[in-house]
Amino acid sequence: MIARAEAWERLQEPCDILVIGGGVTGAAILLEAARRGLRAALVERGDFASGASSRSSKLVHGGLRYLKEGKLALTREAVREREALLREAPELVEPMPFLMPHYRGRKPGRLSVELALTFYDALAGHRRHRSLRAAQALELEPLINERDLIGAHLFLDATTDDARLVLQLLREAEHHGGIAMNYVDAIHLLRRDDTVVGAVAIDLEGGGECSVSAKVTINATGVSADALRGELGERPKLRPLRGSHLLIAHARLPVGRAIAFSHPRDARPVFAYPWLGMTLVGTTDLDHRETLRNEPQISPEELEYLLEAVNVQFPHSGIGSGDVVSTYAGLRPVVSSGKADPSAESRDYLLLEEHGLVTITGGKLTTFRPMALAALRAAARRLDRPIDLRHMRIFEAPYAPPRTRDEALRQAAGSECVVHLDDLLLRRTRVGLQLPGGGTELFAQIKTICAEELGWGDVRWDAELVAYRKRWETHYGVPA
Ligand SMILES: Cc1cc2nc3c(=O)[nH]c(=O)nc-3n(C[C@H](O)[C@H](O)[C@H](O)COP(=O)(O)OP(=O)(O)OC[C@H]3O[C@@H](n4cnc5c(N)ncnc54)[C@H](O)[C@@H]3O)c2cc1C
Repeated sequence: MIARAEAWERLQEPCDILVIGGGVTGAAILLEAARRGLRAALVERGDFASGASSRSSKLVHGGLRYLKEGKLALTREAVREREALLREAPELVEPMPFLMPHYRGRKPGRLSVELALTFYDALAGHRRHRSLRAAQALELEPLINERDLIGAHLFLDATTDDARLVLQLLREAEHHGGIAMNYVDAIHLLRRDDTVVGAVAIDLEGGGECSVSAKVTINATGVSADALRGELGERPKLRPLRGSHLLIAHARLPVGRAIAFSHPRDARPVFAYPWLGMTLVGTTDLDHRETLRNEPQISPEELEYLLEAVNVQFPHSGIGSGDVVSTYAGLRPVVSSGKADPSAESRDYLLLEEHGLVTITGGKLTTFRPMALAALRAAARRLDRPIDLRHMRIFEAPYAPPRTRDEALRQAAGSECVVHLDDLLLRRTRVGLQLPGGGTELFAQIKTICAEELGWGDVRWDAELVAYRKRWETHYGVPA
């Protein structure tokens, strides 16, 4: 990706589209705009994907549970996108088999799941689910609770590495002439005659300030979208919901596929699935009442809640907090309708046009492309030329995953806008989530890579390591 100094210089030139926010939504908008010949720029105040887009459950899915809520359009769109991404980006989006065990007297009932899966598969145009007897389910997944087990369903969804997906969208956008900068904060909107005409941006690393003027400014700041809207006097619409996950060494909880089950306490959906050599367990869904400026973290109560679910569903696993290698928490940008139960809030996206500012938030990782196109459709009304908004293949150049961990560290450090150590260990690679202590055993090797690829001397390395360790312990470690 292009060097910081060059990107900063190009940011000073007026553009057609300024995207604020470098999560999956902003990255997809940048790509869809740039490949259509628009002059497009993106600023992200943290690292790329440092918001919800590196903290999701990593599922590219239709959202089976939305069917139960009657959200047919949402499921249809998400299934269509899942299918397109599996076809167009197989190196990044992979099929994930799910097993959903059924227990006597517990919801959702077997018949209702069969009906939902029949419809789910019909939307995808393939039959991909199968009903199993209890013995067959146990043969596939011997760790699951066998008490009152009456059978199971096997079905297919998909998974990805969310932060890697964002990086690939940004790389592709740059290939088409888009400009993306991390650690650049849009501190406020620029207005002329009550219409938004860009934003004032600060380089949080270099210290410079510039006014980025744009024909259309798009607010893709996820859970923070109300802050920019607030500058225009608009009332808040979002309800930030926190979701937390646990990562357990796969050898300690060796599931072969995603196991979808209900929490014994409140019947909320929980899953455990293999991801990057770990077993990922999630998630919670709670109102987040802390300031949005601070990075979220799992609470001791959420840890206990997820461990309880694991130990009921996998009763012989004996998983305790000592088995948890790392944790992470993210904030869902969910549009508030005031429902008492956070999980009952709609996961649909919100598109607004206010004083020339286009805001796009809510929605899902899975539906980043329709969201990006919806935002561009709104932006097109303010541009002086028509744009073709038909579906285009997502990546022209296929993603070639690095062959070894060393290659991955090196490649990311050398060419993927790494500014701080946590960018490298938590998002460009996932070493910080995969290894105890955030990767302690590799620090000597990583220090050499950072010296060679980023030019970090001892003083810089020591400062980065102290900051990383502190961040990891507070936000990615296991709470006491
Ligand atoms: C726990 C959890 C689990 C989820 N699981 C799934 C799943 O399995 N499948 C799925 O499809 N979806 C899932 N989602 C939803 C999905 O992750 C989000 O919908 C999606 O990542 C939102 O992307 P975004 O780009 O809109 O927001 P974000 O990724 O949050 O990006 C917004 C960015 O804007 C930046 N920003 C804010 N203000 C400014 C400013 N003033 N200047 C510059 N930058 C700014 C922030 O730093 C942030 O990086 C999950 C979400 C969570 C939290």
